[in-house]
Amino acid sequence: MRVFTPRFTDCTAAPFELGKIVCVGRNYAEHARELGNPVPSEPLIFMKPATAACEMEGPLILPTDLGKVHYETELALLVGRPLRHAEPDEVWPAIVGVGLALDLTLRDLQAQLKEKGHPWEVAKGFDGACPLSHFLKSNIWPEGRRWRFSLTVDGELQQHGDTGDMLTPVPELVAYMSRFFTLNPGDVILTGTPAGVGSLSPGQSLELTLEEHLTVTTTVAG
Ligand code: ZN
Repeated sequence: MRVFTPRFTDCTAAPFELGKIVCVGRNYAEHARELGNPVPSEPLIFMKPATAACEMEGPLILPTDLGKVHYETELALLVGRPLRHAEPDEVWPAIVGVGLALDLTLRDLQAQLKEKGHPWEVAKGFDGACPLSHFLKSNIWPEGRRWRFSLTVDGELQQHGDTGDMLTPVPELVAYMSRFFTLNPGDVILTGTPAGVGSLSPGQSLELTLEEHLTVTTTVAG
């Protein structure tokens, strides 16, 4: 299995391999509602293994015959220093990169598993389930800055997010994660998707932006 090394937008490689990918579900109220889910009172945490990561530039290879694959566009944070039982004010100094991720989800399979009360890891953690962009080096950005990001599919805007709308903001979210999982250099945090999720199909072109600082175009393999 090829090892995935996170990269920065200046094309330098991070000095560590990618570790685990820790994610949050339903961190934007409008997205929870669009899937008919209640808005959780505490962060809903799950993980993807490092083997789920792939380069955003693609082409993205999706599983076949397992039902719908949904895109979820999310702000991604690259951890550069260990965090364990962290306080919220310890979080930002430990983040070395800010980028974008697609939290690809086998939505039909996830719905079936949820209905049975079973864990839905396989619907979220399959190979290729986490396309990652290059990361902006985060040390030049102030703590608490709001980030706006978007996804267009075949030229049509499908998602736009503003991290100011998060139910649990980044410092509290990552501190919460670190109560259960020690976060190590190379781990990536996915911070939840805004509304507008939908299905991907072969041949589509995607453009993801993080304001004017990062633009990634990719395609879904045919
Ligand atoms: Zn997600």
